[in-house]
Amino acid sequence: MDSKKMKKIRALVLFSGGLDSTLAVKVLEKQNIDVTGLAFVSYFFDDAKAKISADKNNIKMHSVDFSWMHCEMVKRPKRGYGSAMNPCIDCHLLMIREAGRIMCKEGFDFVATGEVLGQRPMSQNMRALKLIEKEAGLEGRLLRPLSAKLLEETSVEKEGLVDREKLLDISGRSRKRQFELVKELAINYYPTPSGGCLLTEIEFGKRLKKLWEEVEDPAFSDYELLKLGRHFWVDGAHIIIGRNERENIKLKELKGKSDIMIELEDLMGPAALVRNHDSRTVEEAKKLIAGYSRHAKNKNYHQLEYKISEG
Ligand code: SF4
Repeated sequence: MDSKKMKKIRALVLFSGGLDSTLAVKVLEKQNIDVTGLAFVSYFFDDAKAKISADKNNIKMHSVDFSWMHCEMVKRPKRGYGSAMNPCIDCHLLMIREAGRIMCKEGFDFVATGEVLGQRPMSQNMRALKLIEKEAGLEGRLLRPLSAKLLEETSVEKEGLVDREKLLDISGRSRKRQFELVKELAINYYPTPSGGCLLTEIEFGKRLKKLWEEVEDPAFSDYELLKLGRHFWVDGAHIIIGRNERENIKLKELKGKSDIMIELEDLMGPAALVRNHDSRTVEEAKKLIAGYSRHAKNKNYHQLEYKISEG
């Protein structure tokens, strides 16, 4: 008996929630393949978009937190960074390698992605696609349904697990074909492509670099602190000044036992979290608070009263 009739083929698809990965899922589902979307969580991105998209498009989804492993890779990427601190080739490789590990452990038949040949010059050219497949140890088991007809036939296609004829031949940066397919495949929702990964932001990259210069082994909250406020480093102390009420509250939530919070006693203004403080850095933090407070304008920071919370 044909083994396809006995057991449904199972695919694990790297799933960001964006249009391309959603299309990859839907193209495979159309072939009656049992698809699970796989989203990753790290210090620098989360699975929020993927969860919304999975929910609205009726996609089964699984999330994996690989923060530590991902962060180690971001510190020393073998193939370097993009325009900011985004090591896209190594990051993608790590995700696909992890997907391959899950595929073996959980009995999936193959891994697929929403990659499109030529869409991203650094990580989606022919050479990069081949390299990723080889280095992830997934030769023949990694399918790119959106560009499959332009790529070498995989074992997955040769074995008849998927019908190559029903896969696509999209390439390049234009998204015209993808938008046409939204209707055809009845996709209800997809988020805008912008944002999502802090590593692509130049300013965040500078903060991250500085953190690694100053702190040998940062904690989870060190990475969380990078996501808000204004940052100053004074003699090894990290001073973060909230830019609004929401950030002031978040800083208090992130305050560790050995950190201090400094606020103006009687005036509205920014709060400061100081990590690794001493008396000199406390004075620096007070100066910064006074400098950024509209209500303390024209006053010398010495003349102001401060509330300091420790422990
Ligand atoms: S944009 Fe961010 S999440 Fe995406 S591949 Fe690059 S580094 Fe990884």
